[in-house]
Amino acid sequence: MTWEAVIGLEIHVHLKTRTKMFCGCELEYGAPENTRTCPVCLAHPGALPVPNEQAIEWTVRLGLALGCEIAETALFHRKNYFYPDLPKGYQISQYDAPLCVNGRFAVPGADGDHEIGITRAHLEEDAAKTVHIGGAGGRIGGAEYSLVDFNRGGTPLVEIVTEPDLRSAEEAKRFLQLLRQTIVELGISDAEMEKGTLRADANVSVREAGESGYRTRCEIKNMNSFNFIARGIEAEIERQIGVWESGGEVVQQTYDYDASSNMLTARRTKEEAEDYRYFPEPDLVPVQPPPGLVERLRREIPEPPGARVRRLEAGLDFETATGLVTSGRDRLYQAVVAAGADRRAAANVVMNQLAGAGVAPDAVDPGELAKLIEGRETIPRGTFAEAIAASGDPGFSAEKYLAEAAVSDVSELDPVIDRILAENEAQVSAYRGGKEGLLGFFVGAVMRETKGKANPKVVNERLREKLSA
Ligand SMILES: [Zn+2]
Repeated sequence: MTWEAVIGLEIHVHLKTRTKMFCGCELEYGAPENTRTCPVCLAHPGALPVPNEQAIEWTVRLGLALGCEIAETALFHRKNYFYPDLPKGYQISQYDAPLCVNGRFAVPGADGDHEIGITRAHLEEDAAKTVHIGGAGGRIGGAEYSLVDFNRGGTPLVEIVTEPDLRSAEEAKRFLQLLRQTIVELGISDAEMEKGTLRADANVSVREAGESGYRTRCEIKNMNSFNFIARGIEAEIERQIGVWESGGEVVQQTYDYDASSNMLTARRTKEEAEDYRYFPEPDLVPVQPPPGLVERLRREIPEPPGARVRRLEAGLDFETATGLVTSGRDRLYQAVVAAGADRRAAANVVMNQLAGAGVAPDAVDPGELAKLIEGRETIPRGTFAEAIAASGDPGFSAEKYLAEAAVSDVSELDPVIDRILAENEAQVSAYRGGKEGLLGFFVGAVMRETKGKANPKVVNERLREKLSA
């Protein structure tokens, strides 16, 4: 029996606006606890929210990059629930009139592009951060006590929901990597999973190949890296196939994924539909993005990463092209190739060697890097690695580095020169008899013998000395 996975993602992205979504508190990662608060984000009675225009504009920008329709009128709603990290007793979110709907985002695969539907992208505020102290496992049920840091409360948060269009764990991972790169390039978030500024949950179900409906799905949370997401989804797909194949039935449930054990732990049985008693936020007017602004933002959207993978793949291979784009190094790669470097060598240097040497792509002059790559055969391997590490330094000159790195050590060059002179007695006499043009012949022979690693200037000097002796 052939099984097919059906995967949808729900992604949360912290916007890196200077201030919070509905108040003037500054956002600062790592600031001392509860020092970035005010009556609005602490929900003091009578405090009124004022929406952050930058956050609205950035959400529109992201929506456009995801191919969404931008609503003429969007609403903020109150999503009511009780939790210690939510002092108002509700979260301001968007419900049935979100800012961005009906998008499409192309994920290139080895067998063509796969368009993933974007159901919606809406703007909301994040809750505060709860830290559970003591007790077993640090979970709220077993903790001795909990602390709340309200600095995070009110951070602008975009929630992106996809259609269940993804068909494998690998594809879900690639979607997220390309989405992350899009977000970073739009300049609206650092989207770092380890800092929690990008979070993703997955809804997973399986069905037999050819089946048209959807079976019961489970949600996986708590995956904090792209690889863990792929592994968590993979583990859930296998678990569900096992359940169906052994005659059982998958029960709707939320799981936490623990990467260290590759285990899924059931969190709680999901209620049919949680009742958040949504209603329009009475303290905020509807959001109506001006059409002129939307058009301007639309013109500024960079080329989608999926299209860039397709373009680069032509001269490389799918995996390398994807790696270059998802690491944000494809523009440097293209500039280096445009400056004359070999594609494969350029890809390897830009992807692996610069990263290995800790050199930031934007610190590098593509023209100099191209020269260095072209000259790489003429210098010792270790020296090339040193040169790569130095290539991010201001004023780096490939020419200078290549010349200095060439073998200039006379004790190394002399035996080669002596041997070549001994092997070419006729040319030596001719030179000494006045045919000085033969110097080039000797230099060429030494360079060939040293596989181009000799410093031509030193070779010239030594040859002249020895030939005139
Ligand atoms: Zn505040």
